[in-house]
Amino acid sequence: MLSGWTHRVAIVSLATPVEGAGEHVLPTFNAILKNLSTRLRIMLLVALSALPVLGVAINNGLQQRAADEATERQQLQLIASLTARRPEEIIAGAGQLLYAITADVNNLMRTRKVCTDQFRRIMAQVKGQYRTMGLILPNGEIYCNATTAPDELRFNVADRDYFQMAQTTGKFAVGGYQVGRATGLPAINMAYPVIDDHGKVVVVAYAALNLGTFEEQTERRQREKAGIAGRVVTFIDYKGIVLAQFPQFRERIGEKVPNPGVLEKVLGQKSGVFTESDLAGETQIYAFDSAGINPDGKPVIHVVISTPAAHIYADADRVMRNTAITIAAVTVLLFLLVWYGTEIFVTRRFRVLLEMTERVRSGDFSARTGFGEGREELTQLGVALDGMVQELQNRDQQLQGALKRMRSQAVTDELTGLFNRRHLWKVLEAELLRGRRKSAPIAVLLFDIDHFKKLNDQWGHEAGDIVLQSMAQVVRRVVRATDIVARHGGEEFLVVMPEAGEEVALLRASQLRSRVAEMSLSYRGNPLNSITISIGIAISPDSSQSSDILVREADSAMYEAKNRGRDQVVVHRMPGAS
Ligand code: GH3
Ligand code: MG
Ligand code: MG
Repeated sequence: MLSGWTHRVAIVSLATPVEGAGEHVLPTFNAILKNLSTRLRIMLLVALSALPVLGVAINNGLQQRAADEATERQQLQLIASLTARRPEEIIAGAGQLLYAITADVNNLMRTRKVCTDQFRRIMAQVKGQYRTMGLILPNGEIYCNATTAPDELRFNVADRDYFQMAQTTGKFAVGGYQVGRATGLPAINMAYPVIDDHGKVVVVAYAALNLGTFEEQTERRQREKAGIAGRVVTFIDYKGIVLAQFPQFRERIGEKVPNPGVLEKVLGQKSGVFTESDLAGETQIYAFDSAGINPDGKPVIHVVISTPAAHIYADADRVMRNTAITIAAVTVLLFLLVWYGTEIFVTRRFRVLLEMTERVRSGDFSARTGFGEGREELTQLGVALDGMVQELQNRDQQLQGALKRMRSQAVTDELTGLFNRRHLWKVLEAELLRGRRKSAPIAVLLFDIDHFKKLNDQWGHEAGDIVLQSMAQVVRRVVRATDIVARHGGEEFLVVMPEAGEEVALLRASQLRSRVAEMSLSYRGNPLNSITISIGIAISPDSSQSSDILVREADSAMYEAKNRGRDQVVVHRMPGAS
């Protein structure tokens, strides 16, 4: 019962809130939780309560990322369109220049020498912006240019896109990336056709644009305005061939943009912004715009600017990381506080409770928690337990008292307080064994009240009981403290005297007989007639006799005393002995 009680307390305070919290749903979690101390449970709560804060931090970070990305997209778009203005101007400028030159076409076409000289002069004025410029005959043969001596001119450009476009449409046209046949240098060429009165192309003026111009321009812009690290500006032609790039990747110039996804979007529209993985798998934000329009309606040059998403997110990510570190640090600090705080505020009390219940379980009902009054639950639990154990202690004491009484009742006679018959026989056996070891004698006195029935009949049982009680007192006073006195039944008493021989037994018996005779008893004011007893004695000189034979011998001696006229002592003798 006690162990069950303690066990129940343990379950109530620790296990119950956990059980049923989804044994089937989270069996492992539950199993782990079962073995977690209160302290660790509280730690778990602290850890869990840090999660929402962490969630908010992550959410903020993600929002910041989105905002940064939106800003960067806007900026990239702006830069793309600003960057595209310069090629637009260059193309427009080239168109105007070629238009101006062709106004004097008759003069230029006087001789190849005149033509060459004239273009060389013009080239010197516009410096590095063009690789070369000159005139092309309708069959594609170059009539003259600024870079080739007149007698060395043997190039045909009938297959070139700019020439074909200008010739077929009769309009100003710009080609794609190419390496010049006369110059051996990369360029894009622009063509302006001269048309006669019949609408026929007479000659085509052309200029090869130096691609370095784009790089220089972009470089300047980047230096002026330090952009986000990782931004790349690329100029591509209408076919997707790289014309220039900043920062410079020379080996890419003349190559097609390798990412088909990017190319499709850039060539498909005039301008836009999009997100796309690059070939290395890194996410990039792309913004693009275009410059110039060919007769076929397609833009001439596309400007593409890209920024790695990682660079855009860097700031937000750093803030997020710092916040996470701060939260982690605060959580660790909380862990420390909670670890020691729990010990002071909670665990200490739990331990007192556990120790107390443990003591009670092992039977120590004096154990108390000693918690004073207070509203705190553990204090209340302690107080309740103290009350409970107090109650247990009271009951235990009652039980112990009852048990003690029961035990003594098992060996004593209720009326006289002497040993009862059953106990006497047990003691007699033990005394005989003890006496036999020492070869000591043992005497048994059995006596019976004379004519007791008469007394009962005359005065009633109550009077008889008083006599029996008085008799017990007298006997106890006459015999030694070590002698055993028992009520053998009815008004018959038995005295066992260890180490007493016949002489001692006789002496005691006659003392007893005279003391009894001297008793002056009264019942309800009426004096009772003097009481007498008949005593039978049996002696075992060396304690060798068995207990029942010894008692039987005393009994027969007692009957002999009755027969001889009562109120006397008879010692049992072996038949034949004198
Ligand atoms: P004797 O001299 O031959 O012993 O005569 P007696 O009347 O004492 O003998 P008997 O055995 O005939 O009667 C014993 C009586 O003792 C019977 C009963 O009324 C009485 N008695 C036995 N036990 C008790 C008891 O516990 N209380 C009282 N009041 N009387 C008892
Ligand atoms: Mg009797
Ligand atoms: Mg009697």
